[in-house]
Amino acid sequence: MAELFYDDDADLSLIAGKKVAVIGYGSQGHAHALNLRDSGVDVTVGLREGSSSRVKAENEGLKVLPVVEAVQGADVVVILAPDQVQRHLYRDEIAPNLKDGAALVFGHGFNIRFGYITPEAGHDVVMVAPKGPGHIVRREYADGRGVPVIVAVEQDASGSAWELALSYAKGIGGLRAGGIKTTFTEETETDLFGEQAVLCGGASQLVQYGFETLTEAGYQPEVAYFEVLHELKLIVDLMVEGGIAKQRWSVSDTAEYGDYVSGPRVIDPSVKENMKAVLADIQNGAFAKRFIDDQDAGAPEFQELRAKGEAHPIESTGRELRKMFAWVKPTEGDYVEGSAA
Ligand code: NDP
Ligand code: MG
Ligand code: MG
Repeated sequence: MAELFYDDDADLSLIAGKKVAVIGYGSQGHAHALNLRDSGVDVTVGLREGSSSRVKAENEGLKVLPVVEAVQGADVVVILAPDQVQRHLYRDEIAPNLKDGAALVFGHGFNIRFGYITPEAGHDVVMVAPKGPGHIVRREYADGRGVPVIVAVEQDASGSAWELALSYAKGIGGLRAGGIKTTFTEETETDLFGEQAVLCGGASQLVQYGFETLTEAGYQPEVAYFEVLHELKLIVDLMVEGGIAKQRWSVSDTAEYGDYVSGPRVIDPSVKENMKAVLADIQNGAFAKRFIDDQDAGAPEFQELRAKGEAHPIESTGRELRKMFAWVKPTEGDYVEGSAA
């Protein structure tokens, strides 16, 4: 059984007594920085020269410094730049300026798990990973709630790394919802598997195949879009509320019976074998290497795949159709329709 933690299990004064530098002010960075500040923590945001995030952070009244200076003044350095830039940032700007005994906080275990960052022995290395996008982490906190977090300690130099990690988790509001103890290895491998096999990769491919099957059979793209993409959210909401069982309870008996007889025809046991192969490539580092090698080469494969995804006919169909949906909320954050960048 997982070990769970709530607000009462953590002492906010530990993190409130430290100078915290949050490096990066993107999806997670802005949420951590603002939530910590509102919990009474002394926060500085570290950004690179000419950063497009600077104005946003300053408009919130946050102190912004170049990464090097933010690190030099910090007892706790939170690394929330994109995973693929973290090791360059760590090697060039963070490690040489880290105070003796300063703690490092990560929001995902990627760089530690795959050995791209290896902090010196004198530093606590912890992870507080919210199980939700940064914009929700901020919104929930502002509404008096929180997004659940998973918490891990990779290196306990101070003897109190675990208490610090829980204090940090409380500071960003995560323990209002609850925290689960994990390891960097478990978090990294399950996070990558979930997003690749089910949440992002699996769901995107399933929806695209469904759309292609219907439109290639001559059905209207607009109707196909409704059936295989738009309604997915309603189904997933039911799953989140009450599991797959509640989804099956809510749909018609026809839909429920079709679920039982056709689900395993579409997602047959070979898919599970494919999932195991994906998991193996995550565990053995092959996925991480492919991603990082491509990023280091200027991301040609990434850009090509992104452009190919954008060009799928389901996207142009959706762009037009969504104009009809007054009830679909405007996009959150900085996302611009038709530009995945
Ligand atoms: P983002 O892509 O949103 O981070 C962008 C921020 O990093 C911007 O402020 C950007 O500033 C800054 N940045 C980019 N490159 C550099 C650089 N070379 N030097 C300094 N700052 C830089 O990242 P996420 O929030 O998505 O991810 C951060 C971490 O959180 C990752 O480890 C990720 O796996 C993890 N995570 C993310 C989740 C999410 O919701 N997105 C969920 C859970 C974990 P600039 O304006 O200069 O480009
Ligand atoms: Mg992830
Ligand atoms: Mg239907």
